[in-house]
Amino acid sequence: MPIRLLSSEVASQIAAGEVVERPASVVKELTENALDAGAKHISISIMDAGRALIEVADDGHGIPAHELELAASRHATSKLILSDDLFHIQTLGFRGEALASIGSVSHFTITSRVESAREGARLKVDGGVSGKVEKVGAPVGTVVRVENLFYNVPARLKFLKTDVTERRAIDSLVTRYALAYPHVRFKVTDGKSVTLQTAGDGDRRAILAALYGVDVARQMLEVMATEDSSTGSGQGGMTLTGYISPVSLTRSNRKEITFFINGRWVQEISLNSALLQAYHTLLMVGRYPLSAIFLEMAPEDVDVNVHPTKAEVRFRSQDKIFSFVQRSVRKALLAYTPVPSVSPQLWGARSVPSEPREIGIDWSMAQETASSDQLPVTDYESRSTNPDPSSTVHGQSSFSTGVPLLRLIGQIGSTYLVAEGPDGLYLIDQHAAHERVLFEKLMAQRENKNIPSQQLLTPEVVTMPPQSAKTLLEQLPLLNRFGFEVEEFGTNTFQVRAMPALFSGGDPASALRALVEDFEEDESPLQAEVEARIAGRVCKRLAVKGGQALTPEEQRSLLNDLEACQSPRTCPHGRPTMIHLTVDALERQFGRRGAR
Ligand code: ADP
Ligand code: MG
Repeated sequence: MPIRLLSSEVASQIAAGEVVERPASVVKELTENALDAGAKHISISIMDAGRALIEVADDGHGIPAHELELAASRHATSKLILSDDLFHIQTLGFRGEALASIGSVSHFTITSRVESAREGARLKVDGGVSGKVEKVGAPVGTVVRVENLFYNVPARLKFLKTDVTERRAIDSLVTRYALAYPHVRFKVTDGKSVTLQTAGDGDRRAILAALYGVDVARQMLEVMATEDSSTGSGQGGMTLTGYISPVSLTRSNRKEITFFINGRWVQEISLNSALLQAYHTLLMVGRYPLSAIFLEMAPEDVDVNVHPTKAEVRFRSQDKIFSFVQRSVRKALLAYTPVPSVSPQLWGARSVPSEPREIGIDWSMAQETASSDQLPVTDYESRSTNPDPSSTVHGQSSFSTGVPLLRLIGQIGSTYLVAEGPDGLYLIDQHAAHERVLFEKLMAQRENKNIPSQQLLTPEVVTMPPQSAKTLLEQLPLLNRFGFEVEEFGTNTFQVRAMPALFSGGDPASALRALVEDFEEDESPLQAEVEARIAGRVCKRLAVKGGQALTPEEQRSLLNDLEACQSPRTCPHGRPTMIHLTVDALERQFGRRGAR
């Protein structure tokens, strides 16, 4: 075929494809336009998961009638004039593409009025073909109505997911924007009822509750940090605000990690890794934190013109930003994280450090603990993540990931082991400790591709609910790689003939159930992560429980095994395995040393 220029119709559909991928992308573009127009109220109606209707109404500054047609044409924008402007973009939009793109793949109507005009104006565009601008009565602001999205691009329609998924994408998008713009009132309706409404009073915690539920919102920790402009790198100052989850609150995928830069939602792998690194070793493999982090920096320090949807960005100084995010989150996390050393006041008090915190965390306290560059002694991770030798402060190198050699004293309440170390007393949660031991042993055996398994004297038959049985069936190969011998044994029924020798004596039915609980359908993380997660769950189920009396030999061997672990201080799910009462704390408590 000879080379030809594409017809404008084809060209615009190709371009539209980059910007408008699904209903949620339309909602994103229209919401961003409303925000750029300075709206204080944004009202969104969605019908049929956005296939039938998406309408976004705002009370922003509007578009003058004579500019309406231009607004809907490609590369028409009021937000950018010179190419130089591209390098300090202050608005969310700048490409002048969205309205034209959306208009080319839907029945599109835009109605707008500016304050100085007595009337509003309306323009219809059908599949890229504009009608005439008509005068209509309208309030100040803009209403964009998008009907029958992709009616003329059937291939696109076929790629849409289920209504539930598309709808969820829209809701999660709007909620995130609501979180980023807490002073704007957002309302979402679906034709029947209001599905989301924010007050616009600046209260982010309340919006978090709409996003994650009250329980999760209560637990989220507030982060706040600033960095002065650093000389040399060219990177100007930055601020970071937002919320992160405590180590006890995790998800099995990265979907709840949210970053905004200068009011723009971005999907930046480097920011995600900075966050994950801040949680390094505090979370079990395959578990991820939740976050809503808002970064502000000079517009010239970030290039947003990298991708049509503007979700990817490039930084002037990537390393600086990475380390700023990593450090700020880590500090906040450690300031709030229950540390396995008990202060004299806590000793004897009933309050459990890992209890969810109340709303209204006192940040000043956390700042105080976190402000010094030297992490607190009780940061049991500092040495493993910080190669700087000067950080082995206070001469307690044993207080890193490892534990010192401990002398067993005994068991109390059939639940805790008591041990003495070079610096005081250790209380060890036998269940959490055993979980850690089993997990590390199993993963090590797996690494060496040698998981000894042990035949059961009598094979055990386990029946499951249909949905779980389906899931289990898919996981059978993996299970068998872990030293289980499990096979299908009739409808929804399985026969277990062997288990990993590590778990000898454990209940096979319990192990199988651990495997299918908390399984999320639409996640596809890496195989290694799936394995680690599953191993963690099985270990949890089969570890000794609290309330189980152990013989002195069992106690000693558990302690020895724990000492040999790489991360003995937390269970694979991130809970502490031990509490440390230092000699110093004891002395204070007994009044042997003056309280400071
Ligand atoms: P961009 O946002 O990149 O400029 P769009 O195609 O989204 O491109 O919009 C084109 C222009 O239409 C904008 O530059 C703006 O002037 C105007 N516009 C679009 N939506 C609104 C709105 N809700 N309120 C006021 N003006 C708007
Ligand atoms: Mg726009």
